[in-house]
Amino acid sequence: MAIDRTKYKSDEENHPWLRILLDAYEVVDDGIEKALQDYEEKNHVRLACKKGCSNCCKTHQDIPVYPLELVGIYWYAIEKVEGDTRKKLKEQLAAYKGEVSCPFLVDDFCAIYEVRPISCRQFNVFNQICNEGEDPYYTRKHDVFIPPKEINDKAFSIMLPFYGITGDEAITDFIKKDLYHTLVKVLQALSWHKLSERM
Ligand code: SF4
Ligand code: SF4
Repeated sequence: MAIDRTKYKSDEENHPWLRILLDAYEVVDDGIEKALQDYEEKNHVRLACKKGCSNCCKTHQDIPVYPLELVGIYWYAIEKVEGDTRKKLKEQLAAYKGEVSCPFLVDDFCAIYEVRPISCRQFNVFNQICNEGEDPYYTRKHDVFIPPKEINDKAFSIMLPFYGITGDEAITDFIKKDLYHTLVKVLQALSWHKLSERM
């Protein structure tokens, strides 16, 4: 589902990086929604993913996340997560020691859903929901949606100025060579204690 950006109008005015990030996420969300519909119609399959279904957040290893996305996650966790979810998230982040299960999963919901990484936004599975402990990428790869590369390319083109890469020629060259992969981090390999302390 697309982000309701009216909620973040003043945040976008205050943080130029946020506009870049949400522009990129909009491209991903819209592109994936359309690509999923096309794939379902063409292949007569049904998307299994639905709200509250979270086994994938407990089994995904090595979730890719990019520096601008990390800025977004920090901002959202510090400024937007509230109430009981905030308390639990803060505790989980403080206790996190690199387990596979994502530290942002609180009561089976993503506490940072609006700014979850592109890799999470793109992970979709057809036909049946994942069993507990199942990583469908290994058990039934044919049911895992492969996102069209052009969606990623467009989203990363939007984000590149944040990394100092500007100008059509430089951006096209960077994307063509798939160099954005050189910027990637792994969510589970990061220390989240500092974020917890700032919440
Ligand atoms: S990937 Fe699997 S566990 Fe995750 S939302 Fe989709 S069906 Fe549910
Ligand atoms: S960031 Fe959110 S959607 Fe992604 S794995 Fe963690 S809890 Fe799941």
